[in-house]
Amino acid sequence: MKYYSLNHNAPDVSFQEAVIQGLAIDKGLYFPESITPLPQAFFDEIENLSNEEIAFAAIRQFVGEEIPENVLKEIIAETLCFDFPVVEVEKGIYSLELFHGPTMAFKDVGARFMSRCLGYFNKDNKDNKDNKDNKDNKDSKNTVLVATSGDTGGAVASGFLGVKGVEVIILYPSGKVSDIQERQLTTLGQNIKALKVDGFFDDCQDMVKKAFLDDSLKHHNLTSANSINIARWLPQMFYFFFAYKALKKQNKPLVFSCPSGNFGNICAGIIAKKMGLPIAHFVASTNVNDTVPRFLENGIYDPKPSKATISNAMDVGNPSNFVRIQEMYNNDLAQFKKDFSSFTFTDDETIAAMKTIYATNGYIAEPHGAVGYLGLKKELENHPNAIGIFLETAHPIKFLDTVEPTLNVKLPIPKQIESVLGKDKISTKIKTYEELKAFLG
Ligand SMILES: *Cc1c(COP(=O)(O)O)cnc(C)c1O
Repeated sequence: MKYYSLNHNAPDVSFQEAVIQGLAIDKGLYFPESITPLPQAFFDEIENLSNEEIAFAAIRQFVGEEIPENVLKEIIAETLCFDFPVVEVEKGIYSLELFHGPTMAFKDVGARFMSRCLGYFNKDNKDNKDNKDNKDNKDSKNTVLVATSGDTGGAVASGFLGVKGVEVIILYPSGKVSDIQERQLTTLGQNIKALKVDGFFDDCQDMVKKAFLDDSLKHHNLTSANSINIARWLPQMFYFFFAYKALKKQNKPLVFSCPSGNFGNICAGIIAKKMGLPIAHFVASTNVNDTVPRFLENGIYDPKPSKATISNAMDVGNPSNFVRIQEMYNNDLAQFKKDFSSFTFTDDETIAAMKTIYATNGYIAEPHGAVGYLGLKKELENHPNAIGIFLETAHPIKFLDTVEPTLNVKLPIPKQIESVLGKDKISTKIKTYEELKAFLG
């Protein structure tokens, strides 16, 4: 499969090159040159397929022959080593729980998939006969540079821990991620390093983008593990297939609501629809960082600096994947609006929703899931015959500072979290891009 840059000013590249580069040299995001629908038989038989078989069928065309079939199957098996339950919260409304992985965030899937692809491509380098005598090849190490607004850092740290030939540097905004999130990205050691940035998520993301384009850093072989990287982004399409498999027998139109920040998750859902998955409508639910809801309202894309909220993994002022969504709709707003809505909610509305969901249904939603629920409820008014699914993107324990006082509950600590609680946080404080460069050396 070839990938082109959405800025249309860089050469087309292979899957491998796109994964290794992250962003194209013209600063554009990579996009697959084609999306081929899966055969009808796949959808007819989906309930008889395992999650691994579904994932393999879905991702195969995007990887092509660049990873052998048996290796790709192994990567998928290691990626999907946990469950994706679809839980009925109230009549016709389901929570697709994406938080049962090692760091209890949905980003585990993308991070695990990407790290293993990169590991495979690195191993290839060392084994490559032509390169054996090449002294420069000693430096064939990759450095993954990633900005996190919360959950990416932990998922990437865990997903890449111990992967040979890959060093990981994580930038996170000081004081704007939860204690557990901070521990997940600062306590692992080995090939994982954390930088605590005096600023917002957008500042972290800007520094990372700048570093990728900085010629003086070329020797580091920098790549991204944000959802701008296709290997982080594309595997997220699996969730939508899994939910379809679980709900297919009800034979009703499906409306999906994604709590959205960088819009990678929902963008992967739209690819699934392009591949033939019958999804009636998408809702991108946001907190007060409402660049996309405003765009749908007035047609003007006007990013603003991000504001801090209780759903901090979505505190994104300029969602990087939105250009990919616009590409799929040929920048045609009218067409886009037929499939897609976007609503914004305040922290007060989010808190109220968490309380209602718990009081009425006994279900504990954390702030991101609650934002997803709110958007879903709103959109379902237009789809009386549909069933709705909101993506619950993190375990409530990840946001216990909000969940416990809001619902007046005490959450048991899952074993994945217990393992990081006692450890010391190790990070380096930085404020400017020059300090990042100095750190990289
Ligand atoms: C990253 C994240 C989101 C937002 O996902 P995008 O793909 O960036 O839109 C939502 N919820 C949680 C818990 C996250 O970590």
